[in-house]
Amino acid sequence: MNSPFYSLLRASRAFSPTSKRQFGIVLDIDGVLLRGRDLLPRTRDAIAQITHNGKFTIPTVFLTNGTNSMRAEKAQRLSEYLGLPVLPSQVVMAHSPLRMFVDLHDKHVLVVGQGPVKQIALTLGFKKVTTVDDLRDMFPFLDCGDFSRRKTDFSKYIKPSFDPLEAIILLGEPVRWEGALQIVSDVLLTNGDPGSLSHKRGTLPFPHLPVIACNVDLVWMAEKPLPLPRFGHGMFLHCLETIFEKQTGKELHYRAVLGKPTEMSYLHAAHCIQNQALDRGVEPPKCIYVVGDNPESDILGAKLFDRYLRHGGLGRFDHIDLDTFEDEVRPPALKTRRVLRRCIGVLVETGVYAEGCRLNGNIQPVSKLTAELSPREQEALRQPDFVERDLYSAIRMILSRERWTPSHSSSHSLYY
Ligand SMILES: [Mg+2]
Repeated sequence: MNSPFYSLLRASRAFSPTSKRQFGIVLDIDGVLLRGRDLLPRTRDAIAQITHNGKFTIPTVFLTNGTNSMRAEKAQRLSEYLGLPVLPSQVVMAHSPLRMFVDLHDKHVLVVGQGPVKQIALTLGFKKVTTVDDLRDMFPFLDCGDFSRRKTDFSKYIKPSFDPLEAIILLGEPVRWEGALQIVSDVLLTNGDPGSLSHKRGTLPFPHLPVIACNVDLVWMAEKPLPLPRFGHGMFLHCLETIFEKQTGKELHYRAVLGKPTEMSYLHAAHCIQNQALDRGVEPPKCIYVVGDNPESDILGAKLFDRYLRHGGLGRFDHIDLDTFEDEVRPPALKTRRVLRRCIGVLVETGVYAEGCRLNGNIQPVSKLTAELSPREQEALRQPDFVERDLYSAIRMILSRERWTPSHSSSHSLYY
C-alpha cells in the first residue's frame, strides 16, 4: 500500500450514491470504536449521527472477529460503552457460522481459545467438548514447555478413559501458547488420542482431523500508549501451520475458515442488516458500508464480498440458511433477499492501519481465499474505497454520500 494513493482516497468518490436511505453500516469494534478496553475519542459522537433517542436510525451491525464471548454478552458490553441499547441481533461474531456444521455437533471436539470456550461451543450446538485445559489436566505430561511445571513421573500414571477427539475448533488465541501448540499438535499427530503412550512416530493420519479456524487476524491494537499492534489468533495459526509442516512435511488443511475476511461473515452481517430493515417495514439496503481498521481483514473482506455481490458467483452460498446462525428462530417469510448490490470498504486510522506503515500480512488460510486471483486483482482487493481519520469522519462521509439528513421529527424514518 502506498500512502499517496491512500491520501487521494480521502477525497475520492468512486461510486455514485445509492438510493436515499437504502444503505446499512457494518462496524468493526476493535480499532474502530475501542482500543483495548478504552473507548476511542469521538466514538459516542460518531454513533449519535446514526441514532436518535437511543435508537438506531440506520440499520447497523457490529461485526467482530472477537471469539471469546457470546453475542448477547458482546451486545451488553457495547451498550455500556456507547450508552445506548445494542441488541444481540446487531452483533455478528466470527464463530456464528459454526452452527451450520451440524455433522460435527455430535463429534468429540477440541475447542481452543480463552474465556468461556466450552460454553460458547455448547451454545453453538456442539455436544461433546474438550478444552486444552481439560487435556492438560487429564494428560499432565504433555505440556513440557515450562520446566518448573513439567511432570516426569509416569510410575503412578493411569490413562483416564478418553474417547478420541474427532475435530478441532480453533476459536481464538489461547493462553500459554507454547503448551497449547504442543497439545494441538499432539492431537493432530495422534489422530485425536494425545494421551496414548503407544503412538508410533511416523504414522501420520491422512487426512488429519477436521480443523476449523475462526478469526485469522494477525494483529490487533491494545490500549494506548502501546504503539505496536499485539499478536492475534492469526499469528497463533501461523505458528501451528509452521509446526505441523515442519513435523510432517505436509500442509495443515482447514475444513473452514470463519470470520473476517471470509465472505460468510459479511453475508451474515448483511442478513442481519436486512432483517433490521424488514422488521421495520422499510426497503432492505442495496448497499452496505464496512468501517474497519485492518486492511487485511475488514477491507479485504469488504472487497471480496463486493466482488461476490457483483460477479463472484452469486448463488454460491444459496444452500446456507443464514437464519440458522441466529439465536432466535425467525418467521420463514423473512429470508435474506437478493437486493444487496454493493459493499464499500472504509478504512479508519485509529487502529491497526497507520499511513506509511505495513505491519500486517496474510497467512495461509486467508491467502487461499485469493490464491486463484492475479497479483493485480489481489492488490485491488486490499485498497479501501475510502480512508477516514476516525469513526466520526467515516460516518459523516457515509451520510453525506448517501445524502442522509437525520429526520428526528419523522418517526417513520426510524428503524427502531
Ligand atoms: Mg479491528
